[in-house]
Amino acid sequence: MKFRNFKMVDYVVYGRGCFDQLDEITAPHRKSDAPMVFLLDHYFKNDNTLKAQIPVRGNDLLIDADVHYEPKTTYIDELAQKIKEKHDQVSGVIGIGGGSTMDVAKAVSIMLTNPGKAEDYQGWDLVKHPAVYKVGIPTLSGTGAEVSRTTVLTGPTRKLGMNSDFTPFDQIVLDPALTKNAPADQRFYTGMDCFIHCIESLKGTYINEFSRSYGEKAQQLCEEVFLHKDEWNNESDEQLMMASYAGGMSIAYSQVGVAHAVSYGLGYLLGTKHGIGNCIVFNHLHEFYPEGVDIFHRMVEKNNIDIPLGITKGLSDEQFDRMIDVSLGMTPLWENALGEHWKTIMTRDRLRALYEKI
Ligand code: NAD
Ligand code: ZN
Repeated sequence: MKFRNFKMVDYVVYGRGCFDQLDEITAPHRKSDAPMVFLLDHYFKNDNTLKAQIPVRGNDLLIDADVHYEPKTTYIDELAQKIKEKHDQVSGVIGIGGGSTMDVAKAVSIMLTNPGKAEDYQGWDLVKHPAVYKVGIPTLSGTGAEVSRTTVLTGPTRKLGMNSDFTPFDQIVLDPALTKNAPADQRFYTGMDCFIHCIESLKGTYINEFSRSYGEKAQQLCEEVFLHKDEWNNESDEQLMMASYAGGMSIAYSQVGVAHAVSYGLGYLLGTKHGIGNCIVFNHLHEFYPEGVDIFHRMVEKNNIDIPLGITKGLSDEQFDRMIDVSLGMTPLWENALGEHWKTIMTRDRLRALYEKI
């Protein structure tokens, strides 16, 4: 048995208002004439209050991260190229936004020091050189992207992360005030990503005490905010932010499962976004995660959320096949969910039937 020796985020600051410390925290990492690059989720494009709080100095760049679509490798290449054309050296990359923007920040910081294209690094431990200093600042809670060693990218042939020891952030800034104005449905979809991480980790075959300790806590916090409270308040933002962190820590030492494996196929073919895609799939996974799906249904009802149905209606055989190929390619996810003989359990026919149901 070989145990995973994983790289973690180096520094964490947590607390309502801690975003104000960003200048002080990043100052020692500034190199003369080398700018900091701030990648700001385009959602905040016109938010002058937040923009005024970003410590832009000298020749720093403040770039809107376009996350209409989940990050593509071509977009990462484009951003990295744009930055390199202007500057020989940068002091760091700071991503402020949802999981997509944080992933863009991680990937761009890697591409500033590694040759070639982003697609060359989709996989496990392919990144050769340390990235530039990078900071992650979530404005939505749930993905765990703030703590993970991956950045999920859609490339020309696959949707796969740059998983490496050079991928985790050097610093994260967890300020629950930044998630305050998220619309209820977006907050729910991203929050459910965390809930589903917990169920898939806790009910998977890779589970161990490390993952269980974080997963149980994160699940409890998700249920607290989405099931046991009648009103969303500041405490809810604080709880969900810590749920996201703990949920991410839980999967760091285990793995996700059926919902993610199936949802990756949807994302690849139809561009369905991660959070809502997981909800669409998880809605139909009672046979795999009975208790988790029951709780999920209660949360959907309590929060008045519409989970789309029938999204694969009318797809061709060839399209179903492509989704099935992408999904079945996620070996560790299936192995975690169903054990080492998963191929005899999740046959192509069974997966096709599942895709048809959603
Ligand atoms: P997101 O980052 O895709 O953002 C969803 C939408 O919400 C966007 O339009 C964004 O502009 C907007 N938004 C961001 N902050 C907001 C706020 N405070 N209020 C209102 N709107 C806001 O959503 P997400 O669910 O946070 O992240 C999903 C992404 O994260 C996917 O690209 C997925 O692949 C990735 N992901 C990465 C990991 C990882 O470990 N690296 C894990 C899970 C998911
Ligand atoms: Zn997820």
